[in-house]
Amino acid sequence: MRYGGSTTCIAIVEGFAIRAFIDAGTGLMAFRSFGLELAGAIPVFLTHYHWDHIQGVSMLGEVWAGACLFTFIGPNDPEQMLTGAIRPPWFPVALQDAPEPVAFEGIDGPTTVGSITVTAFPVQHPQGAVGYRIDGPNRSLAIVTDHESSPDYDDVVAEAIDGVEVLVHDAQYLPEEAASHVGWGHSTWENATAMAVRMGADELILTSHDPTRSDTAVDDMIQAARSAFLNTVGAEPGLEIAL
Ligand SMILES: [Zn+2]
Repeated sequence: MRYGGSTTCIAIVEGFAIRAFIDAGTGLMAFRSFGLELAGAIPVFLTHYHWDHIQGVSMLGEVWAGACLFTFIGPNDPEQMLTGAIRPPWFPVALQDAPEPVAFEGIDGPTTVGSITVTAFPVQHPQGAVGYRIDGPNRSLAIVTDHESSPDYDDVVAEAIDGVEVLVHDAQYLPEEAASHVGWGHSTWENATAMAVRMGADELILTSHDPTRSDTAVDDMIQAARSAFLNTVGAEPGLEIAL
C-alpha cells in the first residue's frame, strides 16, 4: 500500500516535464497522478528486460499513439529484447507495429538529457543488467537495482559511482534470506548500507522490495538499515530527489 504496488520506474523531471525515464516498470503509468507531462522526446534507459522493468511500455498509451519520440536505450540489443517480449500472444499488439517514432539504441557512453548526464555501468544479475549514474547540476544519484552484491562486482560498482551523493540500492532480501537466494540477482540492506558507507553517500534509498514483504516489514528493514547508515529511506511512489 505504501512501498509497493508498482514496479520500478524513475522519471527525470525538469519543471513539470518528464525528460527521461530510468526503467519502465508499471510505475511508468502513474506519472499523470503526479501532475507531470511527457516532453516531446523521451529517452527510456532500461537496466535490463525482466518483466517487472518493461511492463509499463506495453501499457503506456503514448507509445501506441505515436505521441512522443520514445528511444529505448539499454544493454544487449534493446530492439530485439522489447519487440520479442511485447507481441502476441503475450500481449494483443506488437511493439514492432507501434507507429513511428519508436527508436532503439544500445548503450554507448554517457548521454546528456538537458542538464543531466546519464552513464551506465555493469551490475550482477541473471542475463546481465546495468546500473545508471545520473549527474545533475548540483547533485548526483546512482541507481543500483537488481544487483547481487559480491566482492568482485561491488568493486566495479563502487568505481562507477564514486562521488555520488544519493544511492538507490537493491535491498530485496533480509540478511537471513540471502543464503537461500544466491544467484537470484538481488542484495540485502546490509549490502546496500555497506556500499553507501564505502562510497561516502549522503543518502541511501532501499529499492526492489520483495513483492511479498508488507509495508510494516519494509519499515522494519529500513529501521535495521539505519543502524548501519542513518540517512536511509525506502523507495516509494512519488519520492522526489532533487539533483
Ligand atoms: Zn531483474
